[in-house]
Amino acid sequence: MTSQPAAEHAATTEDFAHNLDAVQSKIEAAALAAGRPVDSVRLLPVTKTIPSERLRLAIAAGVTTLGENKVQEAQAKSEELADLPDLRYAIIGPLQRNKAKFVARFAHEFHALDSLRLAETLQRQLEDQDRSLEVYIQVNTSGEDTKSGLQASEVAELAQAIEPLDRLVLRGLMTMATNTTDEQVIRGCFRELRQCAEQVRQKVSHPELFTELSMGMSGDFELAIAEGATVVRVGQGIFGARQHPPRNNA
Ligand SMILES: *Cc1c(COP(=O)(O)O)cnc(C)c1O
Repeated sequence: MTSQPAAEHAATTEDFAHNLDAVQSKIEAAALAAGRPVDSVRLLPVTKTIPSERLRLAIAAGVTTLGENKVQEAQAKSEELADLPDLRYAIIGPLQRNKAKFVARFAHEFHALDSLRLAETLQRQLEDQDRSLEVYIQVNTSGEDTKSGLQASEVAELAQAIEPLDRLVLRGLMTMATNTTDEQVIRGCFRELRQCAEQVRQKVSHPELFTELSMGMSGDFELAIAEGATVVRVGQGIFGARQHPPRNNA
């Protein structure tokens, strides 16, 4: 898309440390360029498709949270990596209600909440597990049918409807930008998410918790930071290209 090609295939802990450093430096530079504190943006490594044995090297290099888009894959990793009790799991892809029980068992964050029914199912399962979950409402800012998420105009209603669900901690909003090389279009998606969050923040009971904007991936995280991202979800920029390298699409 824009500036970040996939990293070279990382094979050792040193390779991962190098790639993490490189992405972290770009995050800090983008924050500074936007007049923001360097520690105002969290790097969420996206580990989908990366097998647990390779992940152990990345974890040794400093990865503490695994971003996964498929619940079953994340669940398998949580079992394979059960000897690492401090590891956190963030589910970043759409979730079917019949899989909510798995998320309730091991996940710490869920970035793709898009319905009250799903929220209610998560609440019940979390009660059973005596756990809580940080959630982000996903917003479709691209208008693309292939992307999930609510329209911006629908977000406040869901944010208010889930307030009685005490096992869900609403932390903010998440979006994926349009798949294009046009930076103005990409930035427009991120700006829409920030403006949506500003509106919603005035309507929630706990605005002090509703602080996060999860937006930006390997190809566009610097643009997202310029528009206010507080969490960037980066996979290929750390782990190397997945199967068919999208190489910038340009
Ligand atoms: C895969 C994925 C990412 C990361 O994409 P990269 O191109 O690997 O950085 C971010 N967000 C979501 C929701 C994803 O599914």
